[in-house]
Amino acid sequence: MEMKQVPDPKIINDTDVLIQMENLGICGSDVHYYTTGRIGSQIVKYPFPVGHEGAGTILKTGPAVTHVKPGDRVFVDPAMSCGQCDQCLAGRSHTCRDTKFLGCPGQAEGSLSEYIVMPEKCCFKVPDHVSLAEAAFIEPLSIGVYAVKLYGNPLAGKKIGVLGSGPIGMSVLLSALADGAERVYVTDKISQRLRVAKESGAYWTGNPDSEDIVDAILKMEPLALDVVFECCGQQDAMDQAVQLLKPGGKIMIIGIPEFDHWSISTDVIRRKELCLQNVRRQNECVQLTLDMIADGRINVKNLITHHFPFEKTRDAFDLVADYKDGVMKAVIDF
Ligand SMILES: [Zn+2]
Ligand SMILES: [Zn+2]
Repeated sequence: MEMKQVPDPKIINDTDVLIQMENLGICGSDVHYYTTGRIGSQIVKYPFPVGHEGAGTILKTGPAVTHVKPGDRVFVDPAMSCGQCDQCLAGRSHTCRDTKFLGCPGQAEGSLSEYIVMPEKCCFKVPDHVSLAEAAFIEPLSIGVYAVKLYGNPLAGKKIGVLGSGPIGMSVLLSALADGAERVYVTDKISQRLRVAKESGAYWTGNPDSEDIVDAILKMEPLALDVVFECCGQQDAMDQAVQLLKPGGKIMIIGIPEFDHWSISTDVIRRKELCLQNVRRQNECVQLTLDMIADGRINVKNLITHHFPFEKTRDAFDLVADYKDGVMKAVIDF
């Protein structure tokens, strides 16, 4: 990774805005590109700026911009959908066939840059009492909010599992609690992360490296769990999810594996009639997520564990890549 001086981006379309970036969260997906150069079929051609969890201040607006003005503090939704394909027209802009997602190879350069140009529709105004570092967390949090919504049933009274308590697992935990989940069982291999999960309202936490988490949870919940959110992209977690669910239960798959194929017991998922639901980023949940942070239903302050100046971006990536120092979310301050 190296820093490069590049020309400032220019407003091209009348509905574009120029944004001065203030904060950028480092995502597990950015780190996948940094350490392995790819996520599945998406392969980086260098040089390529990553980054998509950003917030900043509007500097300039195109002539047709109506919703934001210079000086506005905004969260930047990294997904630019075409608005015209069958998916967009069906209300599934997150699986748009011509999507351009910031920091995604072959789509759009990332926002790990002092200035970016975006369509105004990707800008969401942040109220004064919410910091732009918190606002940057809207991107991962909206995936948790969306996953809970996509589950399709109210979580009130439900017993749920969250396997993996990194930023996405924590986002699911906080969203599930805000939705009234009765008991949330959280697992992770990093004890500091379990501590944060516990402080944030998890009913029970456990480390699969030091105990049989399936056994432990099923002792407390003999009828098993209603839904399990797989938030770490690990085969072990998928195996645990299958065992932890009650008949008719649902696995929500959010983690990004570094391997190509899941292995799942055909016998158990058939007998229990389990449902597998993949979660692709989020759909139309940005404003709701912003509102939940703004009105205090969800607090992300203690999830932002590290700040780095822009010049130290590489150190920030190394920290996140090595899961050092109990890092949950590291944020770049421009
Ligand atoms: Zn992200
Ligand atoms: Zn589309």
